[in-house]
Amino acid sequence: MMEWETVIGLEIHAQLATKTKIFSGASTAYGAEPNSQACAIDLGLPGVLPVLNREVARMAAMFGLAIDAEIAHRSVFARKNYFYPDLPKGYQISQYELPIVRKGQLRIDLEDGSSKTVGVTRAHLEEDAGKSLHEDFHGLSGIDLNRAGTPLLEIVSEPDLRSAKEAVAYMKKLHQLVVYLGICDGNMQEGSFRCDANVSVRPKGEPKFGTRAEIKNLNSFRFVERAIEFEIERQIDLIEAGGRVVQETRLYDPDRGETRSMRGKEEANDYRYFPDPDLLPLVLDDEFIAAARASLPELPEVKKRRFVEHYGLSAYDAAVLTTSRALGDYYEAVVAALGGEPKLCANWVMGDLSAFLNKEGQDIAESPVSAAQLAGLLRRIQDRTISGKIAKDVFEALWAGEGDADAIIAQRGLKQITDTSAIEQVIDDVIAANPAQLAQYRAGKDKLFGFFVGQVMKLSKGKANPQQVNDLLAEKLKG
Ligand code: ADP
Ligand code: MG
Repeated sequence: MMEWETVIGLEIHAQLATKTKIFSGASTAYGAEPNSQACAIDLGLPGVLPVLNREVARMAAMFGLAIDAEIAHRSVFARKNYFYPDLPKGYQISQYELPIVRKGQLRIDLEDGSSKTVGVTRAHLEEDAGKSLHEDFHGLSGIDLNRAGTPLLEIVSEPDLRSAKEAVAYMKKLHQLVVYLGICDGNMQEGSFRCDANVSVRPKGEPKFGTRAEIKNLNSFRFVERAIEFEIERQIDLIEAGGRVVQETRLYDPDRGETRSMRGKEEANDYRYFPDPDLLPLVLDDEFIAAARASLPELPEVKKRRFVEHYGLSAYDAAVLTTSRALGDYYEAVVAALGGEPKLCANWVMGDLSAFLNKEGQDIAESPVSAAQLAGLLRRIQDRTISGKIAKDVFEALWAGEGDADAIIAQRGLKQITDTSAIEQVIDDVIAANPAQLAQYRAGKDKLFGFFVGQVMKLSKGKANPQQVNDLLAEKLKG
C-alpha cells in the first residue's frame, strides 16, 4: 500500500465591507431588486471611467499589516479578459503582476494542540462579476448584475496545507481575522467569504507536487472539508487504478457530496492580462500605510494572550471569548461592571448566555441580556443574595425581559435564606417528617445525606444557602 500526502492551497475571496463599489458609487447592499444596483461604470459601458474607492486600499493595507505582509507602495490593476454572460464588459479588473499585498503569514491552531504557520503568497484587489440565476427561468438563465463591481480581496495561500482539517482551520482563522478587522462582514450565505480549493496528492516523501484540481466557489466550512476529502479520495483512487489527474476546474455538488469536472484549467495567457489603461497605478505612501496601521484593532491572538494574562483565564476560555470582537467586548464589559471575578464572568458568558444565544440562533450583539444586566445578576451571586442555582432561573427571567436581576429577585421572593435559625427550623421539620430515613442514616447509610439535603432545599423552595444547609444538616443528623 502506497502512502499518500495531500497538498492544498486556498484562494479565498473576501468581499470588502464598503458602502459603494470598487470603481463606482453604486451601492453594495445585499438583496436589492435584481439589476437595480449596477451602474454604467460597473457594466463598462463605452465612455465611462472607473475611479478607485479609497476605502478598499485602506482595508487591503490593514489586512496585509495584520498578516505581517509586505504592502506594495505601487500596485497595478489589470484587465482579465474573458467572455461570460455575467460579465458584460468582457473583462474583470483585477490585480495581476503587482498585487497590493505580498508575502504574509497566518498561524493556525491544529486539533492536536500544535500550531503551524501558513504562508500567504499574495492578496490582490479585484471586482466581482454578476450572477447567473438558473432557477425560476425554465430553460433560460437570468442575469443579476448587482454584484458586478463589488470589491473583493482575493487571498492566495502557499500550498502549505496538508489535510482538509488544516484547510478548514486556515479558512476559519482568516474568516475571524477579516471580521475582526471590520473589512468583511463574513456572511458566507450571502457570498461575502468564499473559497476555491486547489488539491493535489503525491506519494509520501516525493519532493515534487502532484497535478492539482481546483474546486471552485465553496461557501461553507463544511463544504470545504467534504469537497477536499472527496477530492483526495478521487485522486488517489484514480492514480492507484493507473490513471492520471488532469489539471482542471471542478465543482462541488453538496447534494451528492462529490466534485465534478467543470472545465479544463485555463492558463494566464488565455486571459490576455494587460494593465487597465483607465486606471492609474495604485500608489500608497508611508503616511497612508501608517494610518492603516493606526486603525488596526487589537488582533485575536493578542486579545487572547491578554485575556490569559490579565484575567487569569485558561487558554481555552480565552480562545472562546475572543472568537469574535463583539463577544470579547461583551465579556470585558461584564467584568468591568462587576468590578472583578473574571472567572465567574467567563463561566456565565460561555455557559448560560451562550447556550441561550445558540438556542435562539442569535449573535451576541442581539443579546436581550446586556452586559450590565448580567453583571447585576452576578453581583447577587457574589454577595450571596442568591445561589448559583437560583441564578439560573433569574437569568431566564432576565432573558425574557422581566427587568433587572434585583427586581426579579424581589418580585419572585428568591432571596437566599442565610439566617441560621431559619435554616435550622426547616431542617428540624424535615428530620421530624422522615424518621425512617433518619434511623437508616444513623445506622450507617451515608448515602441518605443527599436525600436530606434535597428535602431541605425543596421545602425552602431552593432558597436556603446550600453551604449552610450542608454544614447544619451534618451537625443535626449526628444527633
Ligand atoms: P493559478 O494562477 O492557476 O491560480 P497559482 O500558482 O496562483 O495558480 O496557485 C493557485 C493556488 O493553488 C495557490 O493557493 C497555490 O498554493 C495552490 N497550488 C499551486 N500548486 C498546487 C499543487 N500542486 N497542489 C495544491 N495546490 C497548489
Ligand atoms: Mg488563481
